[in-house]
Amino acid sequence: MSSVERVYSYSAVLMGSPILLKLFEDNSSVAKAVFRLIKQLEDLLTVNREPSQLMTVNHAAGKHPVVVSQPVFELIQKAKSVSLLENSSFNFTIGPLVKRWKIGFHGDSVPPQTDIQNLLPLTNPENVELDPQTCSVFLTQPGMEIDLGAIAKGYIADRVRDLLHQLGIQNALINLGGNVLALGAPPHSTQKAWGIGLKKPFADPDALIGIMEVNNKSVVTSGIYERYFEKDGKIYHHILDPKTGYPLDNELLSVTVISDQSIDGDIYTTLLYGMGVENSLAYLADKPEIEAIFVTKSHQVICSSERQYRFTLQDSDFHLA
Ligand code: ADP
Ligand code: MG
Repeated sequence: MSSVERVYSYSAVLMGSPILLKLFEDNSSVAKAVFRLIKQLEDLLTVNREPSQLMTVNHAAGKHPVVVSQPVFELIQKAKSVSLLENSSFNFTIGPLVKRWKIGFHGDSVPPQTDIQNLLPLTNPENVELDPQTCSVFLTQPGMEIDLGAIAKGYIADRVRDLLHQLGIQNALINLGGNVLALGAPPHSTQKAWGIGLKKPFADPDALIGIMEVNNKSVVTSGIYERYFEKDGKIYHHILDPKTGYPLDNELLSVTVISDQSIDGDIYTTLLYGMGVENSLAYLADKPEIEAIFVTKSHQVICSSERQYRFTLQDSDFHLA
């Protein structure tokens, strides 16, 4: 006999995004524990609001090292190593430029070229000194600022998954504003995989290009349509090119990464964004654990090998390459 199981949805607004949790049992204490954890981690990692451990590190730039908690230290360590990869478009010391552009926040504008030139030297990841013995972080130049905005959600999503597993929940769906965790499978008799929508850029918020089907995966999308402003017919979006200090500019509208760890999804969306489609596909060829879907400005949808997911196109404005 087949029975349709009930879905219980819980929501909250945290990290500036709507957070949605779907469970298959009526369990508001689990939902409360999840939202509490997200809030606690956000309080450690935000750079938009006092007090946070990260703000304390940034305030002490050029002055003295700051001791942070073990998890914050490990996240900073990871962010530094990814930032130091050859030709990395990920840079966790991009903070001064992010603050100057204020993209998606009140007062955003195109800064004068000289401002950008003056800020670029403050974004050298080598100038972050880490001491694993004491878990201390030192930004050696005054004015430097760490920004973990590109990986905080992924890190938090992985901790939420750990908590749900600890609480004995194997099947659940959680959306942390762009980072989706599809745990286990939907326990229905007919549906074997989770269907996750691939958003249609610059369209109605519910409009989809197609559907990705996954089991027990993280799905992270970064797109130029998420946070941007328009000036003189040009779009300025929130992923900056660490080399130029301007928004990354190439053929892409969005990159989606399907992986086990959401932090990897978050790191790779930024890295692949900077690489562009061709280089990304070559780079991913020997990384079966990381898969990606690229959406280009010419409305092509390009999928890496579909080992960990299935993609079905739904919108006739787009074409599968
Ligand atoms: P979102 O999920 O909010 O769209 P992303 O994961 O795409 O976020 O990361 C974008 C955020 O990361 C920006 O808002 C900024 O705080 C920060 N950022 C911007 N450019 C870079 C970069 N090149 N490297 C690392 N972080 C960046
Ligand atoms: Mg990211």
